[in-house]
Amino acid sequence: MASKNSKKMAGLVFSRFTLTRRRFITGMGVGATSTVVLAACGESEPEPAAAPAPAGPTIVTTTSLWADLVTALTCDGLASVRALMPSGADPHAYQPSLADRAVLETADLVVMNGMVEEGFEPMIRSVAQEGTAVFRTIDHVETLLLADDHGEEGVDPHLWMDPVRVSEVLPKLTKQIIEAGRLDSASLQACLDQTQLLLAKLDEEIRVMVADVPAGRRKFVANHASLGYFADRYGLEMIGAVVPSTSTLAASNPAYLEQLGDRMKASGVSVILVEAGQASKDATALAKHVGDGQVVEVFTTGLPENDPRGPSYVEFLRTNARLITATLRAQVGNLKPDDDHGHEKDDDHGHKKG
Ligand SMILES: [Zn+2]
Repeated sequence: MASKNSKKMAGLVFSRFTLTRRRFITGMGVGATSTVVLAACGESEPEPAAAPAPAGPTIVTTTSLWADLVTALTCDGLASVRALMPSGADPHAYQPSLADRAVLETADLVVMNGMVEEGFEPMIRSVAQEGTAVFRTIDHVETLLLADDHGEEGVDPHLWMDPVRVSEVLPKLTKQIIEAGRLDSASLQACLDQTQLLLAKLDEEIRVMVADVPAGRRKFVANHASLGYFADRYGLEMIGAVVPSTSTLAASNPAYLEQLGDRMKASGVSVILVEAGQASKDATALAKHVGDGQVVEVFTTGLPENDPRGPSYVEFLRTNARLITATLRAQVGNLKPDDDHGHEKDDDHGHKKG
């Protein structure tokens, strides 16, 4: 995976050259990228007489996590894959630029999560009206509903926190990629199988981590409601969120936080998982209200942009799962005597350890 990651990292670094003309964006291998960077720096250089034709379609994704998955699905080189947002950016709050619009216009296919890229919605609607194919992953999974503090239910868009749901989207996404890029379906089928195998292994790995957390400690509070799919898949309980919304753009209020703090005390929850870089005054106040409350940063939108582990989806989720399970395992809580020893051999989904 290491060499793959470095390739992808080079690709993402390159994607900042958002105004580079499309004929240069061919393949995302290291060699191709350095050529591209040189071309982007030396705009005055004459174009070679026989510039090679683009190797494959250009696929533009909103988030870096979907870019990594699309790169894997296109066999790491059969398409030019570009992410609009840097890894770790908050998709709710991101404000797209004119350069982003220019990148979108180069796309043969746009892949977005849907419902989290608030700022991109008008731009993507407009390229869709001009005829660009748009694939919204959220439209292709069984979604979860979450209630806000007024009891109103809405669809939870954070499906990428569940590798099983992500895997379920991939066959449809592959079909769309084959159509948009007129690519060889046998090659892409092989890459799809390989990607799904990696995700199945990751899922199994996370189940093993969760099985090591005593049952009474598998509860937490989130900052905004971004961990619902992860909790649902792995039998954890998100008892509430500091910002009771599926978007970071919403706000909390003191009465609600007071209630949430009491609920935490009653259920022995001390852990508040917040998005990296978004620890708020509200989260800190809540931790204080609980007494031994603990604010822990996790990654909900990708590893930080310059993280040595690269923009890999698998590394992202594995890192998070480690962080979350280690934090929950150490959670003090109000455990029943049985919970502290005798780690379960089975998790809630009947997978056996070892
Ligand atoms: Zn979110």
